[in-house]
Amino acid sequence: MTTMRVLLVEDEPSIAEPLVAALQREGHEVHHAPDGASALAAPEAELVLLDLRLPDIDGFDVCRALRARSTVPIIILSARGEEIDKVLGLELGADDYLVKPFGVRELLARMHAVTRRTQAAAAVTGASVVDDDALQLGVLVVDLRAHRVSVAGSEVELTPTEFELLVAFARRPGAAYGREQLLADVWNTSWSGSTKTVDVHVASLRRKLGDQVQIDTIRGIGYRLVAAP
Ligand code: CA
Repeated sequence: MTTMRVLLVEDEPSIAEPLVAALQREGHEVHHAPDGASALAAPEAELVLLDLRLPDIDGFDVCRALRARSTVPIIILSARGEEIDKVLGLELGADDYLVKPFGVRELLARMHAVTRRTQAAAAVTGASVVDDDALQLGVLVVDLRAHRVSVAGSEVELTPTEFELLVAFARRPGAAYGREQLLADVWNTSWSGSTKTVDVHVASLRRKLGDQVQIDTIRGIGYRLVAAP
């Protein structure tokens, strides 16, 4: 993995200190924010590790605020392991979720997976679209090079994970896409959670794309993208 500027948002010194040391050993530049306010004031990072229980601002609000202004990959670190928290975190735009306690190796693997996904989303070219920088399906245009999406001419802001999910759908318009297959193609199976992850991201894609782009649920199988003409 290439080295990155990592923002670690964690108030507990006994967790933060060894993490900072481990990340620095890997060559990463780490900015440690001990609370939500300093996280939001921190310099732009290439990856964010975000604790949910912070002394000032709820970690979910920090996640939402970070996501509102950038597409930086966010991995939530939390002692809360309940499914509802995972779903909420992912809905707020986090890219992955790690439950404490976790090992440094596991964290590094997740960071690697999220980064790969982000880079792939930013530079999806692929042999099949060498002469074609954009996928167009009716009113939906996915610009692979510029990493932009528009519906009927209006730009839609997507997170890197949502973008890659949409690209997966757009490459096979009208075809049924199974949840397991989406996990494999978009998440590289690195996500140890359930197919619920797919559902959460599809729900957020639907919300962002609006009614002119239809993502149908195929019961017991998965989804299918249908774009209105
Ligand atoms: Ca905490």
